[in-house]
Amino acid sequence: MAVPKRRTSKRKKRARRTHYKAVRPTLQPCPRCGDMKQPHRVCPTCGYYNGEQRVTVED
Ligand SMILES: [Zn+2]
Repeated sequence: MAVPKRRTSKRKKRARRTHYKAVRPTLQPCPRCGDMKQPHRVCPTCGYYNGEQRVTVED
């Protein structure tokens, strides 16, 4: 099995991790209830998708 010859320096490690970023989820208003939801997903507020009740939302 291949094994690293040198320990990765703090600088190398941190420089690599500068590209690890949190992604902000895209949100669009639900056409039924107007609440913000992610596109191509069932609305968590009203449970509708594509004009149909797909899941029952509790409370
Ligand atoms: Zn909705």
